[in-house]
This record gives sequence, structure tokens and C-alpha cells, in this order.
Amino acid sequence: MKRPWAHIPRVAIVGGGPGGLFTAHMLERHASRPFEATVFEASDRLGGKLVTASFQSLDAPYEAGAAELYDNSPVDEDPLRELVAELGLPTVSMNGGAVWLDGERVSTLEDLRRRGGPSALRAFEAFDRAAHGWMGTRQFYDSDLPESFTDERTPALFAQWLERIGDPFTRRYVERLIHSDLAAEPHQTNLRYGLQNYLMNDPAYMRLYAIEGGNERIVHELVRRQRASVQLGCALESVRTSAQGRVRLTLRSPHGPLEREFEHVVLALSHDHLAQVRFEGEPLRSELQRHIAHYDHPAHYLRISLLFSHAPWRGAFEESFGISERFGGACLYDESARRPQAPYGVLGWLLGGDSAREHAARSDAELIELALDALPSEFAGARGAFLEGRVHRWIGAVNALPGGRVPEPLERRHLPCGRSGPSLHIVGDYLYDSTLNGVLESAHYVAQALGARLEQGGEFFHANTPSFDSAQRGNTSLRIS
Ligand SMILES: Cc1cc2nc3c(=O)[nH]c(=O)nc-3n(C[C@H](O)[C@H](O)[C@H](O)COP(=O)(O)OP(=O)(O)OC[C@H]3O[C@@H](n4cnc5c(N)ncnc54)[C@H](O)[C@@H]3O)c2cc1C
Repeated sequence: MKRPWAHIPRVAIVGGGPGGLFTAHMLERHASRPFEATVFEASDRLGGKLVTASFQSLDAPYEAGAAELYDNSPVDEDPLRELVAELGLPTVSMNGGAVWLDGERVSTLEDLRRRGGPSALRAFEAFDRAAHGWMGTRQFYDSDLPESFTDERTPALFAQWLERIGDPFTRRYVERLIHSDLAAEPHQTNLRYGLQNYLMNDPAYMRLYAIEGGNERIVHELVRRQRASVQLGCALESVRTSAQGRVRLTLRSPHGPLEREFEHVVLALSHDHLAQVRFEGEPLRSELQRHIAHYDHPAHYLRISLLFSHAPWRGAFEESFGISERFGGACLYDESARRPQAPYGVLGWLLGGDSAREHAARSDAELIELALDALPSEFAGARGAFLEGRVHRWIGAVNALPGGRVPEPLERRHLPCGRSGPSLHIVGDYLYDSTLNGVLESAHYVAQALGARLEQGGEFFHANTPSFDSAQRGNTSLRIS
């Protein structure tokens, strides 16, 4: 006979993006005692920056947020790959790497030599050798861990490294190649993050893939399996600790202000949103101020997605993406390459860094015009087939220096008040590498730490409280718009 628990601890997960949903999913796996979890999400949908949108004139999907998933399995285990497989989602690999400079495509070393001359090729080979020498595949895989870069107490800016490339053509090529992945300028990030974004183009380090039918399917599958209760339209405003050592949240809900107390809280917010939350009382306020300041390196994205009645570029361009030097170096995705059967064509520009921030002030109509004008010659004829454009601005939504200048130990990243403080946990992609893989690692760490904490709560049995199974089932009220 099952024995019921006297006390079911309440867990609040604030933020219904990938970080919050991964945490809820992992916590269900790691906890060995019952708990009652509620996900509070400020907007009217779950998924955060993992959003597969659709055009109005045709039911053609496009990625408005995260477009690529990173497969680390060439080096070691890949928890995101494993999760995608567990969720039963089919994937499609992505390929690309061409860079358009002065309107002409550079795809091979021979192209580089032909365009820039023998000195450009030599400079590129030297840079590439140095990059691989500085960060091997194992170091790349472990680069989010403080231990792997203990000698990097005062890391050089990535810009200083780029300056060492003597040949101007090669420097321009490398800078443009990684600009939109960085979402920042080379002087705003360090060597480690810059090289990570360069080396990810080498399939020995990682491969790129996407979810067939749209990356947001990850969100739908997680929600389908999840037992946590979800409250949409509930924005966290302030946090303080109660006299009993619980965590008290003040939220703005569709029905007015909401005050709730929890034994355990996970804040799964992007850095810019975390910085808007008020933390009251010491040491909470100073610890969170310190945490927010350490990771305060905002970076920017802007997406312009274009729908065409057909894809006149087929045959001339067959890759999933390429990089153009327009917009300071921007990625141009052929999203329809993932759906070769589809009658329509979809192209997406991803602007990053200063260019994204500066262009964000322009109107959608203006940006769509610029995006059509900037298409390389391989896309000749596309304008005639243009149907509709959509713009998504993500200013300050990602991080230029994930992990901060000096990487912190994992416990410090996730438990800013320490183990002896209130049970307040932080999950964030900015604690790792600003990716879905990173936020999954972060969620995994917190789920383990919180699972252990729940366990330490001890066994409380009471005859009148619901059993584990029924408590969990009674708790299910998932809503997703
Ligand atoms: C344009 C773009 C392209 C990207 N491309 C890639 C890519 O190709 N590959 C990759 O791996 N990653 C990519 N990323 C990064 C990826 O999207 C993030 O790593 C991931 O979304 C982080 O998840 P998260 O849950 O931490 O944050 P978010 O996705 O930002 O989710 C946070 C959630 O919290 C909610 N929220 C905010 N404030 C509050 C509050 N006060 N109270 C309650 N809820 C709140 C938000 O509404 C949101 O739903 C990209 C990001 C952008 C913007």
C-alpha cells in the first residue's frame, strides 16, 4: 500500500521558455519524493525564444527565434540530442558555410585564394591552425566549465585576436563569418566565445540540425508530457524571503496582483528579464545584484523572414544557410531547404550585434525592403515571387559574453545565495553559451540540486494527504495557447 506524504513541497518555476520547461521535465526525473510544481509565464504562450511562427498569406512555418540545434555528439554525450530522441521528434541536418563578400560567394579554400590572393590563403590557414591548436574538440566541449580555462583569468578580447590576422581580406572573411552567431562585436566578447563560434563550423566539433516541422515542437512535446501546473500571463515582479525561510513571490496576473510563498523557487528567465525583477531584503538583494552584474553583457538579434510563392534560387543555392557581409555579417537561411517538397520558398535573415540594434528602430516595411535588396545574385528572381515579410526584434535578449569575464563555479552560477541560503535557483543560457544546449545543462544542474534538496526535506507521512500519484495527477492543468 502506498503511504501518503504529510507535506508536499511547492516549487515555483518562473519563466515558461525552454529553461523553465527543461527544468520541470528534469525535476520530474530527479525528484524521489512528491512535489507540486507551478510554471509562471509572463506572456500568453510557452516556449520563450523557441518560436516557430507562420506567415499570414500561406501556412508556411519559419523560425522566429532559435533556428539551429547544436549536436555535440561528434565529441561526447549530447543531452539535447538525447532529449529530442526521447521526445520522438524527427530531425533534419543543416549545412552551409559559404560567405558572400562583395556579392561573390567564397565556399572553398580555392575561392579564398582566387579572391584574396595567396597571402589571404596563407593567413587563413595560419588562423585556422591557431584556432584548432588553442581549442581542441575536448576543450570546445568543456569550454563552459571554469576548470577547462583556469589559465584564462584575464582573457583577451576576441577583437585582439582578429587583429593578428595580417591579411585584410582574410580578417574580413573571418569577422563576417561569425558575426551573426556572436550577436555582438568582436571587442565585446572574449577569445573563448569567439573561437567557439568559429570552430562550430567544423563538423569534427559539432553538427547542426533542426526539428522537422519546426523547432517549437520541442515545446509542445515537453508540455504534453509535463505534470506541472502552468499559469500564463503571470509576470514575476518581486522576490523576498519569508521569516520561515520560504521564498515569497509577487506576480502580476490577469486577475490582479498575486502573492505566493514557495519552499523552492527556480528563476528561468533571460538575463534582461531577470534584471527587471525586484529582489528585496538582504542578502538576497546584494547577491542577485552581483549575479546580474556579472552576466550583464547584452547582445542583439533581429530576424527578417521572407515568404515567396516558389523558390527560384533552387539549383543556384542548395544549402541550408550562407553568410552575407551585408548588415555587418548576417546569416541568410533557406528555411524551405528543410521542406524540399513545399511549393513555397522561405528565406530568413539573422542580423546580429550593433547592426541588429541599429536596424531595430526602422519600420518593418523598411527592413523587408532592405532584406530583399540585400539578397545575393543566386537569389535573382526572388523579388518577383515575394509574398510577405515578417520582422522579429530581439534586442538585449542574448548574451555577448556568456559565463561572464571570469567563469564562475557551477554552484555559484545557479545558487547565488549559496546552499545555506533560501532555496532560490537560477537557470539560464547565459550561464553557459547562450544556446538551447546551454540552458538544458543549466536546467539539469538545477534539477539535480533541487532534487537533492527535496530529498533532504525528509519523509513526512500523514494519513489524510494525497498519495504521490494522485497529488501529481491532481496538479495537472496545462494550458498552451
Ligand atoms: C533570434 C535568436 C536566435 C537564436 N538562435 C539560436 C540557435 O540557433 N540555437 C540555439 O541553441 N539557441 C539560439 N538562440 C538562443 C535560445 O533561444 C535561448 O538559448 C533559449 O531560448 C533560452 O531559453 P530560456 O528559457 O532561458 O529563455 P527564454 O527563451 O527567453 O524564455 C524565458 C521565458 O520567461 C518569460 N518571462 C520573462 N520575464 C518573466 C517574468 N517576469 N515572469 C514570468 N515569466 C517571464 C518569457 O516570456 C519567456 O517565455 C537564439 C535566440 C534568439 C533571440
